[in-house]
Amino acid sequence: MHDAHTAGRTHPEPGHRYRGPFQRDRDRITHSSAFRRLAFKTQVFTGERGDYHRTRLTHTLEVASIARTMARALRINEDLVEAMALMHDLGHPPFGHAGEDVLDECLAAAGGFSHNQQGLRIVELLEKRYPEFPGLNLSRELLDGQQHRAHKHEPHQPSPLLEAQVVDLADGIAYTAHDADDALNMGLLQLEELEESTLWSTATQRVRQRYGWLDREQLARAVVHQVLDTLVSSAIETTREQVQRYAPGSPADVQQLPPLASLPQPLAGELRELSGLLFRRVYRHPNVLAKRATAGEALREIVAVLVPRADELPAPYDTIRMTEGPLRAVGDFVAALTDRAALDFQRQIRGVRPPRPALHE
Ligand code: MG
Repeated sequence: MHDAHTAGRTHPEPGHRYRGPFQRDRDRITHSSAFRRLAFKTQVFTGERGDYHRTRLTHTLEVASIARTMARALRINEDLVEAMALMHDLGHPPFGHAGEDVLDECLAAAGGFSHNQQGLRIVELLEKRYPEFPGLNLSRELLDGQQHRAHKHEPHQPSPLLEAQVVDLADGIAYTAHDADDALNMGLLQLEELEESTLWSTATQRVRQRYGWLDREQLARAVVHQVLDTLVSSAIETTREQVQRYAPGSPADVQQLPPLASLPQPLAGELRELSGLLFRRVYRHPNVLAKRATAGEALREIVAVLVPRADELPAPYDTIRMTEGPLRAVGDFVAALTDRAALDFQRQIRGVRPPRPALHE
């Protein structure tokens, strides 16, 4: 996708003197309040066991870093890839997927909740940064990319732009590698358990060949780097081969083709095997499940207290209440909370009688 071929913005704006359209999109995203709040939102682990682990923000930055490397090597639009990567998790509620599941359940009567859909609401409606329009007025290509994320599990979807495909692949690579790293650091998982996965054990052999003996800490770091390097390099090579094979002449051609950004076959299966192992041993670890339960309880309590009082919500949620109903307004408000703001809110609810928590943005 060339900058010059962008379909433009919902509210037309003149071009910028120094920045291309997707550079501007990237800057609008990094200056948004939803982006800053990612610093205090859970990726997988909450902060009770030290501060080594990834947050939703640092996960996002790792995805952007991998996706940019791939974009530059593939000579696709690096600015667009970076903007898409920085935007991809903007709609995450507090407490990661646990928070998302609870909100989806609480908002069932209003059509449910999904973080990908929420990302679109944020950039099109909820951010208030410009006097001329609601949201960030991003380029059409970013909105379409996010729209695709929201519907990617539905059948008969056209392929998104190659730039969006690369971000999606980088997301899967990034979280598998860093969740393994975080889980090791927290002692939720042992190196020996990870070696049950082919991807991990192959990387371990390579590291041992190169460095000989390493202590467990050094070995863990080196294997994470090796896993990342193998995945990213192979993804670049395979994607390049696919592009050469199908030779799309335009972004529109890409949408008619099967996804071009991909891992080679044995490796794609090995990545699935490793993420399956993480799913069973880490995402379903009793400590992680206990945190999920606590988080869910907090969000349920907050929603229950706010729904009958939705007319007290601050702007822009009050406008949402009038146009889309109290449940959606409460969903938007709660989704914007950081983990600690949600826990503070819950404490206020429990401590004040009758409950009158301060509503703030
Ligand atoms: Mg992500």
